[in-house]
Amino acid sequence: MRKSRASTAAASAPQVSKPDEQWRQELTPLQYSVLRQAHTERPFTGEYVQNHQDGFYRCAGCGSELFRSDAKFDSGTGWPSFSEPAVAEAVELRTDHSLFMRRTEVVCRRCGGHLGHVFPDGPTPTGDRYCINSCSLAFEPATASEQPGDVTDRPGAARD
Ligand code: FE
Repeated sequence: MRKSRASTAAASAPQVSKPDEQWRQELTPLQYSVLRQAHTERPFTGEYVQNHQDGFYRCAGCGSELFRSDAKFDSGTGWPSFSEPAVAEAVELRTDHSLFMRRTEVVCRRCGGHLGHVFPDGPTPTGDRYCINSCSLAFEPATASEQPGDVTDRPGAARD
């Protein structure tokens, strides 16, 4: 499968790479349009805009841990907003010139999925506002016995 992304084609190859048709089958139509086609969900419609629970947010495409609740803040924009990623290397930043704007796109490094954009107007000490689509994230609540971490197999998870 060949993919061409105009501007920053030299970006690192994602670890999780699937044929487009497979992504289309695995993701909801909205997730597909955001993660794989870089569209934006409508503001104030995402399930995590008002989520104030403790926990962490994984990529809805590949499960990589991306953001934590302690970096989340209410930006009033209608999208979940974070001051920083959980692990800097988990996301990749790309210059985005679409829609006649110069913005910085935020992409999941592991699967190449589009997450949102980062703007330099955040209210926290980092100065960054990671403006992320809810549907590109999968929230995992923190539990007392579990440390947030990049676990792929959760010990407490029920299994059939
Ligand atoms: Fe991902």
